[in-house]
Amino acid sequence: TPLATGVHDWQAQGITSVLHEKRGGYANNTGTVYGLGGKAESEGVRIMSGVKVQGFESGNGSGAITAVQTDRGTIQCDYVIVAVGPWVKSVWEMLELPRAVTIKGADGMLHENVPTWVFWSLQEGTLGVDPNLQRTNDGDMPPVIHVDTDAALHSCVDGSVVTDQMWGIYYKPDFHFGGIQGGAAPFKVAADPDDVAVDPYGPESPDFVVGEEFAHMWVSALAHCQKRFEGQMPKYKNEPSGGIGAFSPDSFPVFDVFRENCYVIADSNHGFKMIGVGKLVAEEICGARSKLMEPFRFSRYIEGKLHPVSNSPFPWS
Ligand SMILES: Cc1cc2nc3c(=O)[nH]c(=O)nc-3n(C[C@H](O)[C@H](O)[C@H](O)COP(=O)(O)OP(=O)(O)OC[C@H]3O[C@@H](n4cnc5c(N)ncnc54)[C@H](O)[C@@H]3O)c2cc1C
Repeated sequence: TPLATGVHDWQAQGITSVLHEKRGGYANNTGTVYGLGGKAESEGVRIMSGVKVQGFESGNGSGAITAVQTDRGTIQCDYVIVAVGPWVKSVWEMLELPRAVTIKGADGMLHENVPTWVFWSLQEGTLGVDPNLQRTNDGDMPPVIHVDTDAALHSCVDGSVVTDQMWGIYYKPDFHFGGIQGGAAPFKVAADPDDVAVDPYGPESPDFVVGEEFAHMWVSALAHCQKRFEGQMPKYKNEPSGGIGAFSPDSFPVFDVFRENCYVIADSNHGFKMIGVGKLVAEEICGARSKLMEPFRFSRYIEGKLHPVSNSPFPWS
């Protein structure tokens, strides 16, 4: 494993599979989104930010959307694309789409009344060390390291067992957050999805910011993996972090057309690969059917065309 990770102090034992995504990487999210916005505008797209969608209109005995109601007025339209991340449940309900699904299991049995959207709380934080602490042996920027393991995890503070169950973490140097930033497996929000307040979102949320338990587990896991993180617990940055995601019944995205002219991109928190999905969606709207998108149709639940179930503790692996 030290060879695969390129870091000399690797010490997690029992890692049986290593995947190195050589073309992978990471970028500042805000800068990336503004960069993409600039590219769209240079193609003549007009972006109106700060406008809230509140409902949809249809008519003439058809389900097709004829207009979008917003807090700044009603906008007539030929086609609607919905890509609202963790807010999908509210817009889904405005579109009067099914609040629950029937799933045909691998055994052919029908499982009824499974909520279409549930929430998971993402666990992320930053260890406030110099981000340059994490470099490869050659002094280069390291990849994002993601570890899933069933090795017992011991506290880096007092040696006690943090967990003897399957656990997972990811981490990378981060110059924006000022340290080593990363996370651990999220947990399903116990509250009824109807009662979950998505706003205020992220660090402003009174309900969904990570606590001490996360910090202890995550920093212990960093030390489990690399010796350089031993004894660093006091440097954990005690500032609000994390956020929630809206997940589909199988935790995979839903990319499909509803109401005849409404394309919903519901990412189920699968990340920035949605940039590539946007291109495929544009091609589909222009008339090409994408084979890559077929496994993500909403009909997969009732048809039992389900995705393989992963052993990873992460819902998006
Ligand atoms: C804590 C956390 C960490 C993450 N870390 C990573 C990571 O390291 N790498 C990675 O690849 N992915 C990561 N993700 C996942 C990634 O952020 C999402 O998968 C991605 O942002 C989804 O893109 P999107 O464009 O579909 O939705 P979003 O980026 O969520 O954008 C949705 C937009 O819709 C707007 N909107 C919502 N409702 C309305 C409405 N009614 N009217 C008008 N506008 C509305 C919102 O304001 C928002 O701007 C993380 C997610 C979380 C929560």
